[in-house]
Amino acid sequence: MEENNFLCNTCKLEIETDSDFCPRCGTIFIEEVKCEDHPENEAEGVCVICTKPCCRNCGYAGKDVFLCNEHENIETYQGLAKVYGTFDEIQVQFIKQCLEEKGLHPFIFSKKSTALHLGGIDHALITSAIKPGKNDVMNEIKLLTPFSELMNAMEIISELEL
Ligand SMILES: [Zn+2]
Ligand SMILES: [Zn+2]
Ligand SMILES: [Zn+2]
Repeated sequence: MEENNFLCNTCKLEIETDSDFCPRCGTIFIEEVKCEDHPENEAEGVCVICTKPCCRNCGYAGKDVFLCNEHENIETYQGLAKVYGTFDEIQVQFIKQCLEEKGLHPFIFSKKSTALHLGGIDHALITSAIKPGKNDVMNEIKLLTPFSELMNAMEIISELEL
């Protein structure tokens, strides 16, 4: 740990001394931060996706992270956010590659990760994942990026016109 760095009291991430907020959970460390949309209100947190300071009307401190109303539905996993979800392993690999070419750091997260990590695609597992059913979302292959790259990644993906 660098001298003068401190730990975020909410998520325990190591924070550099001159940081105003925690990039992982959105906790604000300095006093008197105002909501970007309501300058009369004190900001309760910073959206981890767009870094906008929000009052309690504009954002929400969820289980792990603070998100603004615009980004409240984004799924987050320990510092990573879901940018894309699909059942198509080929497609997710393609998008990952496109993002990497732009200098981003995407990760693939899948409940079937054992099969995927072994290199080959287990067709039985993938086929069962495609069948419509209540477990659809469970079996979704998710493409994740660090919070700070999510907006950039979304833009790149929208330009891919999938
Ligand atoms: Zn934190
Ligand atoms: Zn936001
Ligand atoms: Zn506000």
